Amino acid sequence: MKQIYLDNNATTCVDEKVLEAMLPYLKENYANPSSMYEPARISARAIEKSRSQVADFLGVEDSKQIIFTSCGTEGANTAIKGVVAQFADKEKSNLIASRVEHPCVLSVYESLEKKGYKTNYVGVDENGDIDINSLISKVNEDTILVSIMHANNETGAIYPVKEIAKEVKKINKDTKIFVDGVQAAGKIPINLDDSEIDFYSISGHKFHAPKGIGALYIKKGTLFEPFMLGGHQENSLRAGTLNTPYIVGLGEAAKLAKEALSFELSEVKRLRDKLEDGILSQLQNAKLNSKAKNRVPNTTNIGFEYIEGELILLYLNELGIYASSGSACTSGSLDPSHVLRAQKVPFTSLHGSIRFSLSRFTTEEEIDYTIKHVPEVIKKLAKISPFQKELNELGL
Ligand code: PLP
Repeated sequence: MKQIYLDNNATTCVDEKVLEAMLPYLKENYANPSSMYEPARISARAIEKSRSQVADFLGVEDSKQIIFTSCGTEGANTAIKGVVAQFADKEKSNLIASRVEHPCVLSVYESLEKKGYKTNYVGVDENGDIDINSLISKVNEDTILVSIMHANNETGAIYPVKEIAKEVKKINKDTKIFVDGVQAAGKIPINLDDSEIDFYSISGHKFHAPKGIGALYIKKGTLFEPFMLGGHQENSLRAGTLNTPYIVGLGEAAKLAKEALSFELSEVKRLRDKLEDGILSQLQNAKLNSKAKNRVPNTTNIGFEYIEGELILLYLNELGIYASSGSACTSGSLDPSHVLRAQKVPFTSLHGSIRFSLSRFTTEEEIDYTIKHVPEVIKKLAKISPFQKELNELGL
């Protein structure tokens, strides 16, 4: 059976070249990079090379502003909790985030609320675009942090993070800006030197490095309390023995992703658009949820009216097509996606929304196969849907 992996926003395959770069550090070059002898220095040099590759990928000249983390979730927790830990006056706190952030941000906000910190959320419109004016109107002298993602994992919507950072700092220059860049990295250009963003997190497994490695950009001079305490690694900003092989893998993946960016923006986008048009043109009950002004080139989210999303995924799975409903971390729960709800996607397609996310390894043949089979699956499911009258009216 064919295996067509269209869930690259959940995770990606490890690029062969990334694995090759990592292997020597899993085999012979295993020395602890913090030690003094020559093999350790080899590891330490490899880590610094990777730091420069990640910095280059993020448009950062001074690589000292990059620390390695275990994942995107750690990056978000480090930034948010690290900033908040410096503010004793909960009553005078104001933390802002969008309603469509990943749970790695929203859950931290919820836990801070329980501790007495004040939070404020901004919504998105029916296209999934963020309401910047509403966000800015919530900023005041007590605003300690604004968390806003660069690209949304479910719809691919891109948010104007640089503009937001600039406007927020005009009102309160002390407000820190955390950007979750996990779904933007490798999909759109990133240039942090040219921004007022204080923290920016990425995760290797979303751009062909393995799971368990990420990075966090921390603007020079930004004060925060480190999340991981222990040894003096990473200038005491993140304790723990450095994971040399995975860090090397992250650096290589960052280099490759930068080289592949124009391919991503042209060829991956072309295939994504072909898939999207191919499905929408064949099914009257298919509605596009990814309607933001700007979006990453690899993602489409389509709602199939009156059809159950989990059933669509099960039927596609039988055909070897792997996609998702909601984000991988929250699927497993049957609650409709908080992102699509924030966007006010009508209930008729909310439960039947499927995300297809491509990578630079997706082929035309795979897209053609998917375009052929998705409508067949939807037509089969339409026959067993309790909404026969509505579906008949839509030609199904
Ligand atoms: N932020 C976004 C937007 C994501 O999509 C994800 C993972 O799906 C994360 C953060 C969490 O990243 P990680 O799995 O590396 O913890």
